[in-house]
Amino acid sequence: MTVQSVLDAIASRPGAGDVIPIINPATEEVLAEFRDGGAEAVDAAVARARESFTSGVWSGLPGSERAKVLWRVADLIDQHADELAQIDSLNTGMPHFQAFMIMSTCAESFRYYAGWCTKLNGIAHDVQQTGGITGAFTNMHAYTLKEPYGVVGLIFPWNGPVFNACTKLAPALAAGCSCIVKPAEETPLSALLLERILAEAGVPDGVVNLVTGYGHTVGAAITAHPGVDKVAFTGSTVVGKQIVQAAGSGNLKRVALELGGKSPVLIYDDADLDTAITMAAMGIFIHSGQGCISGSRIFAQRNVYDKVVEGVANIANSVKLGAPAEDGVLIGPIISAKQLDQVLGFIEGGRRDGVEVVTGGNRLDRSGFFVHPTVLTDVAPTARLYQQEIFGPVVAILPFDDDDEVVALANDSEYGLAATAWTKDISRAHRLAKRLDAGTVTLNCQMVFDHSMPFGGYKQSGWGHEWGRDGIESFLKTKTVYAQL
Ligand code: NAD
Repeated sequence: MTVQSVLDAIASRPGAGDVIPIINPATEEVLAEFRDGGAEAVDAAVARARESFTSGVWSGLPGSERAKVLWRVADLIDQHADELAQIDSLNTGMPHFQAFMIMSTCAESFRYYAGWCTKLNGIAHDVQQTGGITGAFTNMHAYTLKEPYGVVGLIFPWNGPVFNACTKLAPALAAGCSCIVKPAEETPLSALLLERILAEAGVPDGVVNLVTGYGHTVGAAITAHPGVDKVAFTGSTVVGKQIVQAAGSGNLKRVALELGGKSPVLIYDDADLDTAITMAAMGIFIHSGQGCISGSRIFAQRNVYDKVVEGVANIANSVKLGAPAEDGVLIGPIISAKQLDQVLGFIEGGRRDGVEVVTGGNRLDRSGFFVHPTVLTDVAPTARLYQQEIFGPVVAILPFDDDDEVVALANDSEYGLAATAWTKDISRAHRLAKRLDAGTVTLNCQMVFDHSMPFGGYKQSGWGHEWGRDGIESFLKTKTVYAQL
């Protein structure tokens, strides 16, 4: 599928709602326009999904058969990795090499969950119950069954369109669910290609149903729909709360949430400083800071503080920003004008509050939504830009003296997605891992994921987990059966 054919396909999708432009964030040009699918498209998608689920065309297949299809999906993602990456980098502005690297992770997520299809067993237990007035024992055989949740809504943001889709689709399909897929309105393009790949691999009709449109229309309709059994959502904490409310006032559908973050990075004076500084800088500047685990708060031990500030600022000034096709580009633009305004607004607010802008703080003087990687110091822990997620290439660097102080600072956030510590003192590193209030802690490494390990947020960064065994459990219900012997 060429890029042009994807653009044509989105433009010709049926829909009765508003016309939504798809903007190239690196040029601000309109790539295509499409119509919001609205509640009608959601109704139709849920009906198809329900029919496919009830018919057992997918949910009723032996796990080994589902596994074969998921392996084919993985192979096809590998085969089409270049096209998928081209579409995602055009639509998000991320450099092509980065989008391409992500595709192998996407293929692996299908392979990993293909393995689980044949291992979805419950537990068995012989239960003895004392019955009635006689006090005699009754022997029971008890066991649990793992059953697919049913029709699940998968709603995700623009920051990694294929990645976000695969992270949810692979475990949902492995579990045997039928899916409604809702990509972000800014980045619906690659989902069209993914839809074709799933069909070509042998996922039956009606099992995966793509609906495109806005969050307040299509997303809200999925969340409110009585025919949807569960919503798995990745996005902002604000919208996560709206989804919980809608589920609570509707059919009490289950909700899994992967939300925002304000991740701390601790750099001690005994760390391998060159590596720590490089990784801390890339951990916030890569993808223009539009990653949920971006390390947006760096804490440097006081005697290396100046060196860390200087090192991170040097990297901020040396990385090349540009459109995906430009040579040597490491960092692309912010996704949209709205997001750009939000990022610049945070920086302006910081300036008014007396924050020092060590470098950056401005939009690049060219077309496209480019923000110079920005380093801020003299940031009060009460400042809005310290507490709230900016989702841009903006980092606050603060000094600290000891463990207690830095743990208190790091944990002083409503978020708890990820945290990093750089120190050669291995005992201290493991003590910090216990004390840091975050769903993922990385020690002497940063931005690490593995399919086999669960990923989820503490506090207001989420409910539940993706990836690993927890990721597939999220799409399974447990039924308990007692049989009297
Ligand atoms: P967002 O919450 O605005 O949108 C995410 C998705 O939800 C989009 O598809 C959107 O259309 C939809 N949506 C919006 N309003 C809705 C509603 N009322 N009902 C249902 N769906 C609705 O988030 P965003 O700005 O697109 O993405 C950035 C956010 O995503 C950041 O907060 C980031 O931290 C978070 N994120 C988290 C993870 C994670 O794994 N924890 C990963 C990536 C991004």
